[in-house]
Amino acid sequence: MTIAKQRNPLRQLRPVLELLADGEVHSGQALGDALGVSRAAVWKQLQKLTACGLEVESVKGRGYRVPGGLDLLSAERLGASLEPAAQDLLRELLLRDEVDSTNAQILQRLEQGRGHGVAMLAERQTAGRGRRGRQWVSPFGSGISLSLGWQFSGGVQLLEGLSLAVGVALAEALDDFGVPGVTLKWPNDVWCRGRKLAGVLLELTGDLTDRCGVVVGVGLNVGLPESEACSIDQPWIDLNQVRPGIGRNELAAAMLSRLLVLLEQYPARGFSAYRAAWQERDAFAGRRIILEAARQSWVGYARGVNDSGALLLDTDSGLRSFHGGEVSLRGAQE
Ligand code: ATP
Repeated sequence: MTIAKQRNPLRQLRPVLELLADGEVHSGQALGDALGVSRAAVWKQLQKLTACGLEVESVKGRGYRVPGGLDLLSAERLGASLEPAAQDLLRELLLRDEVDSTNAQILQRLEQGRGHGVAMLAERQTAGRGRRGRQWVSPFGSGISLSLGWQFSGGVQLLEGLSLAVGVALAEALDDFGVPGVTLKWPNDVWCRGRKLAGVLLELTGDLTDRCGVVVGVGLNVGLPESEACSIDQPWIDLNQVRPGIGRNELAAAMLSRLLVLLEQYPARGFSAYRAAWQERDAFAGRRIILEAARQSWVGYARGVNDSGALLLDTDSGLRSFHGGEVSLRGAQE
């Protein structure tokens, strides 16, 4: 495994980030002395950090602090926490301070034939992706933005249900850190206390009938500032509200370890091997729901998923199955 550290374009802010990471109050003077710059230059750097979505508090007459401190991504810590099987499967680990979208970056690498087994994590995404062109909110240091590339041969049908199996892998990693009550919302969300904790986005490239690549993208909230979350149009939650103190590097390593093993085994095992585990965590099992597509919606009772990961909906006109793609699930009045 190669660990490549390349921290553009926020590289110049690294030193001040590392000083503020302890969560203590630092005076402008002390920061300036430590960085070898003027107080005005310190202030400018802090403005840039705020613009990246980082909460920098000004403590009157004393200085500045990042409430709760920062648990910065570290290639060494993350690499050391990977399971041995994952260390063998991971070809390259890329850490970035800021990218447009980790999925876009890995997709590009797959298209260039150098994305297999490559994982990228970013402190901040400026254009984090959701399904159907939606945005994933990921301000600096607030969560885990992780994408992993994998090359398959045998066509895309081998990946049927994979986004659900990814949800299972993430939920199991969260269990290991004592996060209680993690459930899954079809097709691609990880929930906690009935709110969205993480999202999964799979993107494909190549010849979908033969040799193709998949990017498994995960966005998970660890400590999302309210000020940055105001654009999220559905209930959300972060780990700090449920189980504070989990190390981002250790959790990212646990997630990545499970995802690598999952991707290696998935073509041979298929979704049926993960179906029971998915159904045990089904947030809407037996509940009345609405499935919404662009021009149509269906109402019925959620009856779990079939062996390809399609949602089973018990409607007035019988049992219907729905594949992910264009459909959104919402709770309905009983
Ligand atoms: P649905 O939740 O209807 O299935 P979706 O699957 O299209 O929607 P995703 O593509 O997984 O959703 O993610 C994008 C959506 O997630 C956004 O439209 C927004 O509602 C929500 N969202 C964006 N950022 C976050 C975040 N950091 N935490 C929780 N939810 C978010």
